[in-house]
Order: sequence, then C-alpha cells, then structure tokens
Amino acid sequence: MKYISTRGATARKQFSEVLLMGLAPDGGLMLPEQYPQIDRATLDQWRTLSYPELAFEVMSLFATDIPADDLRDIINRTYTEEVFGTKAITPVRTLSDGIKIQALSNGPTLAFKDMAMQFLGNAFEYVLNKEGKELNILGATSGDTGSAAEYALRGKKGVNVFMLSPEGKMSAFQRAQMFSLQDANIHNIAVEGMFDDCQDIVKAVQNDAEFKAKYHIGTVNSINWGRIVAQVVYYFAGYFNATSSNDEKVSFCVPSGNFGNVCAGHIARQMGLPIHRLIVATNENDVLDEFFKTGAYRPRNSEHTHVTSSPSMDISKASNFERFVFDLMDRDADEIKTLWAEVGSGKGFNLEFVLNKVHQQYGFVSGKSTHANRLATIKQVYEQDHELIDPHTADGVKVAREVREAGETIVCLETALAAKFEATIHEAVGEVSIPRPAALEGLENLPQRVRVVPNNATAVKDIIKEALA
Ligand SMILES: *Cc1c(COP(=O)(O)O)cnc(C)c1O
Repeated sequence: MKYISTRGATARKQFSEVLLMGLAPDGGLMLPEQYPQIDRATLDQWRTLSYPELAFEVMSLFATDIPADDLRDIINRTYTEEVFGTKAITPVRTLSDGIKIQALSNGPTLAFKDMAMQFLGNAFEYVLNKEGKELNILGATSGDTGSAAEYALRGKKGVNVFMLSPEGKMSAFQRAQMFSLQDANIHNIAVEGMFDDCQDIVKAVQNDAEFKAKYHIGTVNSINWGRIVAQVVYYFAGYFNATSSNDEKVSFCVPSGNFGNVCAGHIARQMGLPIHRLIVATNENDVLDEFFKTGAYRPRNSEHTHVTSSPSMDISKASNFERFVFDLMDRDADEIKTLWAEVGSGKGFNLEFVLNKVHQQYGFVSGKSTHANRLATIKQVYEQDHELIDPHTADGVKVAREVREAGETIVCLETALAAKFEATIHEAVGEVSIPRPAALEGLENLPQRVRVVPNNATAVKDIIKEALA
C-alpha cells in the first residue's frame, strides 16, 4: 500500500516513511491511496480474535512494508494487560439507559491518546533502529498529548523527547505525571508563558532549517498517520464487543477536538465495518458541530476559543478534518487546496451543497454540550449507575442521549478517566472519593524533573544542544 497527500503534490510513500512524518511537504495530510475492503467472511473471522490479534490483522493491511513478524512483535509488546489494565484492552460496558461505553483510557496516562501513542513509541523505535537513525521529538502540550508521548517514548533507543509546557498552568496531577519521569531521554521544559507561547517556540525551532536538520528534530502531533491507523483498530474491537453478530449495526459517539479519533471511525466505516452513524460531540468550541449541521466550516483563532471543563477538546481548527473533506470531495486535491486557502485566509468555507452526502453517505451527525450539561450528565450517571465519568466522556454521553433513534446501539468512546479531572467531578457530585489506578497513588509526592526557561526559542535550543552534546 502506498500513501498520498490530500494536496496532491507529494510523491507516493511507504508506511514506514509516513510514520515519521508530520505534514506532507505540500502542506497536506497523508492517506492511503485506497482503503482496504473487509468482506463479511473476514469480519466473521475477526470477531473472535484477541485485541492484539485483531490489531495485527487491521494494521497489516496498512503497514505493508513492515515484515509481518516484526509488526506482530511490535503489536504484542504494545497491547498488553500490563499496560492497559485488562485483557480486553478496550472493554465495553452498558449504562442503565442502554448507552454503551468503550473504555479507551486505561493506559498509563488515563486518556485515549495512549491507545495510539503506545504503538507509535514502539513503532518509532523499530523503524529508527532499523535505519540507524535518531529522532528528537519537540512538542508543546497543555496536558494530555505531552504526557502520552512521554510515556510512550520513555527509555526508547534512538529517541529523545523535549516537551514544552506553560509553567504553572497544568493541573497538579498533570505536572506530576510528566515531571516525575526519571528516564534520561525525557526532557520536561516549563516555559514562563502560555500554551500558545510554547507552540510558537516549537514553530520557531522547526523553522530554523539548519538547527532542525543538525539535531534531527521531529514531532508527534495529532495528524500523524500512525496514530490514526492504531485508532482504527478499536472501532472494530468496540463493534465486536457491542454486538453478537455481524448482521447488527452500531453507531459511535466521539468526543472530538482535532477530529483524529472520529477520523479513524470514518476509515473503519469506509473499510466496511457496519457502522450506522458517526456522532461527533463537541463542547462550547463547536466548529465541527456547526459544520455537520450547516456545511459551514469556520475555524476560529485562539482568542475565540473557550477555556472549558473538557480542555482536550478546546480546539477551533480541527487538524485532521482535511482527511475527511478529501474523501467527501471525491479525493480532488485541487479542490482541497482551494478550500484550505480559504481557511488560511481566515474565511473558512461552505459545503452546504454536499451536506446530504455528509449525512446519508458518510453517516455523520453531531451535537454539543455546555459546562452545565456535562455537570448534569456526570451527576446523572453517578446517581443512576454509581460510576464516575470524566467531562469529555460526559460530553459524548449527553450528545448520544440526545440524538439516539429508537433501537439504535450507540457506543460512546471514553476518552479519559474521572481521576484526571477531580475539580470538575467535585463540582458535579460533591466531595466524593474518585477512584484512581493503584499505580498512580501518591503520584504528586514523587520527585519531579523539570527545567524552567524564559519565554524564548534560544533558551529551548540551548537545552536541546546541551542534552545532545
Ligand atoms: C485529545 C482528546 C480528545 C479529542 O480527540 P481528537 O482526536 O482531537 O478529536 C477528547 N478527549 C480527550 C480526553 C482527549 O485527550
């Protein structure tokens, strides 16, 4: 299988090349030339597989330049009970109102990003070692992505991680999670500024071509194809878990920000998984809800992005959305260039004329929640089902309840655990005790490793030079 760019001006590439890429050189996103098609007989065969076996079957269709035994080994080391807490890896449970929840957040950082990032860590190490290369990941985080990347890459050969975060802006739990890592290849850098300042520094370093080449600087952001492909697997697993036969259909409800998670659902559906609808759930930052309701895509700048109680969805420019629109526009790269030029100029675009296709052919619908909705949903689930869901998952449950049709099976993706968002949980249900995995008891008391630097790119470059000297 070969990969192409949504902007049409990048030479076709192999999986292991795409794995280490961010944006394509032409500014687009990489996608397979076509999606593999899964027939009924294959689906029947896959139904009884374990999670790692299923992951191998799905991913081997995409990672065609990695020898089968090597890929199987990477996957078997990634999806273990030890790392993800259960043998099922992503078990599905049912709330008393019939809504199903697929647990994607039992990895080391208690958010669904571990599902893909843990695979990426092992896959990076494999490809880099094979090619005798090294890679130094430079990233900026306001919480979830940075910790997932650090836990995936800690101790890996050939990789260093330099992760910038805004000093004093993350929660005590998030700080403890990242800064308590003692691995020599993990470098936490707290910048005296805001998250946007951290991102600006990353861009400034990336734009210094000489520095970038000399120090092998790379990224792991949400547009990485390896992350998407690893996420496709759990849609298959969730479907098999939520049904008893392949005659049934299931809808997935996905708390969304950058459109990475639900993009994987779209791909699973295009491969032939019997998905009825893909329900995109947003918070107050509702650019995607607006698109799926009206056809207008109007990204906003950071001044118009709300800070909410589901912070990992506080995104107003959905970086993976271009992958879906490419399919929607029948893979016309020129059309994508035109549309994203409009995005670049701050105008956005309107695809109202194909809204019917978005709904009928691609099965997308959407909804949104407010802070009050999420608190009420957390409280209801706590009272009815005696369990605590996190504010992102609550957004999904709220929207799923609202759009559910008679007889429809909806699986809500659980994108984080309540333990990560204690303040909001307490606001919703009072001072209850919030379960935390045993391994994370006392996390905040562990010694921490972090360098605090002034808000400028030179200070960050100096740390990188010193660490790699
Ligand atoms: C990243 C994240 C999301 C949003 O996922 P996207 O792939 O960006 O749409 C939702 N919930 C949580 C907890 C996250 O960490």
